[in-house]
Amino acid sequence: MGEFELIRRYFFPIAEAGNTSAILLGPGDDCAIQRVEPGLDLVFSVDALVEGVHFPPDYDPEKLGWRGLAVAASDLAAMGADPVCFTLALTLPDANPDWLQAFARGLAAAAAHFGLALAGGDTTRGPLTLSLQVHGTVPRGQAIRRTGAKAGDYVCVSGTLGEAGAALNYLDSDNPGPDEQALLARYHYPQPRLDLGASLRGHASAAVDISDGLVADLGHILEASGVGACIDVARLPVLAALKRLVGSEGAVNQALNAGDDYELCITISPEAWEDLPEDTRGQLTIIGEVRSGEGLALTRDGQSEGPVAGGYDHFRT
Ligand code: ADP
Ligand code: MG
Repeated sequence: MGEFELIRRYFFPIAEAGNTSAILLGPGDDCAIQRVEPGLDLVFSVDALVEGVHFPPDYDPEKLGWRGLAVAASDLAAMGADPVCFTLALTLPDANPDWLQAFARGLAAAAAHFGLALAGGDTTRGPLTLSLQVHGTVPRGQAIRRTGAKAGDYVCVSGTLGEAGAALNYLDSDNPGPDEQALLARYHYPQPRLDLGASLRGHASAAVDISDGLVADLGHILEASGVGACIDVARLPVLAALKRLVGSEGAVNQALNAGDDYELCITISPEAWEDLPEDTRGQLTIIGEVRSGEGLALTRDGQSEGPVAGGYDHFRT
């Protein structure tokens, strides 16, 4: 199978996924063309996933297809952007049809689910690596940045935290029980909060998606906004399955520090919180408050637990 046959067979069909009305030209030419209507800002981001670094060696290709696009789409959610399209630069050690078919199946499912059309890409030979560039749009000036958090804002997170990171311990389990399976699903099939992100435009003062752990990613907002925050560990949303597997303390630790959840962490003023539609508020948990100063402090049921060690720099050991 030649390079172009491979691309045509496995990837061109994914150009039909999602909302293609803004794509004037998809894969097949030297560039794709996206029409950006007046009054919109184009919001875009690229993510690289390297075998052995961002996913385990011999990882299930169907899950990789889903997970790769989900991870990239999560950055659009964090900006409050409506998804439009993506490009895929794929480096493969060889052209294995079974692998490609499963990968394309997972990628197509994610593309359709998130409303992202494949607009083009590049295919090369080498160690397995994916680079996904995603495009979204927001009404002009309305992207949610990391810089807007103010003292007195609530700190909120979507969904539940810590499960995907805890699932790393069970990736090689031959016979995972129901609790382990609940965690594994969160690792394999992240659900970027695209609808929630878009519904927070004009309300949230800052947002970030949680890829490296709450402490690290909230830390990015605090640093960018020049503020500090206090979060109450008793308010962290965690699944009962996680508590059963690692205990209550372990669950708090995972929720604070584990990555790969792809939930949103936002800040929002109390007035804007009251203005949110009820179903939007229902997807969020208030876990703390932004303060003047800097750094992140923890409380438990109102009692101080002191500042968080480390946190802001995820390269720090
Ligand atoms: P060029 O050399 O002009 O950059 P290529 O020969 O790399 O173009 O690719 C031919 C066409 O196939 C382009 O439109 C490109 O966007 C598309 N393409 C290549 N690889 C992929 C892929 N993995 N997924 C989707 N489209 C792809
Ligand atoms: Mg060209």
